[in-house]
Amino acid sequence: MLIKNQNYTVEITGTGSEGEGVCRIDGFAVFVPYALKGEIVEIKIVKALKNYAFGKILYIVKPSKHRTEPKCEYFYKCGGCVFWHTDYEGELQFKQQKVIDCIARIAGLDMNIEQIIGAQNCEHYRNKGQFPVTPEGIGFFAERSHRLISINNCIIQDKITADVIKIVREFMCDYAIMPYDESNHTGVIRNVLVRVAKNTGEVMVVIVTKTSKILHKDELVKRLTELSPRIVSIIQNINGERTNVAMGMKNITIFGKAEISDKIAHLDFSISPHSFFQINPEQTKVLYDKVVEYAGLKGNEVVLDLYCGIGTISLYIAQFAKQVIGVECVEQAVLNAKENAVKNGVENVEFILGKAEEVAEKFKKIDAIIIDPPRKGCDIKLLDAIKNIKPEKIIYVSCNPATLARDLKILTEYGFSTKIIQPVDMFPRTAHVESVVLITKVDG
Ligand code: SAH
Repeated sequence: MLIKNQNYTVEITGTGSEGEGVCRIDGFAVFVPYALKGEIVEIKIVKALKNYAFGKILYIVKPSKHRTEPKCEYFYKCGGCVFWHTDYEGELQFKQQKVIDCIARIAGLDMNIEQIIGAQNCEHYRNKGQFPVTPEGIGFFAERSHRLISINNCIIQDKITADVIKIVREFMCDYAIMPYDESNHTGVIRNVLVRVAKNTGEVMVVIVTKTSKILHKDELVKRLTELSPRIVSIIQNINGERTNVAMGMKNITIFGKAEISDKIAHLDFSISPHSFFQINPEQTKVLYDKVVEYAGLKGNEVVLDLYCGIGTISLYIAQFAKQVIGVECVEQAVLNAKENAVKNGVENVEFILGKAEEVAEKFKKIDAIIIDPPRKGCDIKLLDAIKNIKPEKIIYVSCNPATLARDLKILTEYGFSTKIIQPVDMFPRTAHVESVVLITKVDG
């Protein structure tokens, strides 16, 4: 076992799943946050466990050629991004390697992985930001904690977000509006949420409150609307519960519209305070175009879109198929999906409320299946149902290469063959990597 507080000079030989550097000392793996592969660093052991340890950089003896000065001033404190100390090339190499390692080690597949498609914009790409308000300020929680880091700016958010935070902060100071204090469940404002429709420019601000009343609310509305004509919707969301969940159920429109509208390619989508929408619309189009390409539909197919959310993929591919059936377990998302179909005049889609693994069991003849599960991947019951349906093609959209690899191993045993794995960077500066995978039925 390594000893706490001991110093070592080491070479970083790998990268952990969260982007941290990894080295070996006497056979023990040591995880070193903010160290980059190839670097020689002097570290102090800060935590030693039976099989592995954690180290802290004291001094960088030989920096990586990818090392950069973090542009974000909150980088070492905030739990949001993990890659401001490397250039984008270094970040993409990590993401590519993460997919390669999972596919080889977990899926046991010996195959080429397509070169990751990087983002054009690594800054201000997000269309949604949620900022807790506490007696310490407005900002972000530090990693794995409830310690708030007050911020003035977040480089991956839309630029208007920083201005909205500033206005809410000044308003609270000027009128002595109390922030929410979770220790005694008192105060008024608990969260500020900013949603931006990147393709239409519309902005929604949601003020989450513990109380139903916000004193001097009209002044807050005045200041926000004077900030920008783009702010077309201001919502008060009431969350009176003792909970870590950011928003409550009740929304009151205190200015403008109850929803904002955004576009993905030719399609229009309504976004309300609670609705799910992909957070990087530019890369969403790149991702969906890959789904269309891999599906290679001729127009006579029946397609199942499992985990369909608000129906974005279903509506995107409907023009290429005979019929698309979307399945989603959140009722509100299914309602939004149906509204979105009507809004866009798409008639060959249908949406079913239910669990993918339960609904899929009911189908016998489906030509292609799209699956886009959350991080935990597919339920085994769903993979069993797919085995019985035997579709010609499966397009698997994954936000977690480890569970993707686990599911590909099972699908291989079930008589399917993985043809193409294409990583896409949807979340620059974070360790998350998305992949689109083409899987086909093995004949016979
Ligand atoms: N395909 C959509 C949404 C993907 S996010 C898009 O591209 O926007 C994953 C979705 O799966 C979420 O909407 C979540 O509510 C839903 N989900 C999670 N578990 C599910 C299950 N067991 N069955 C059906 N839907 C599920």
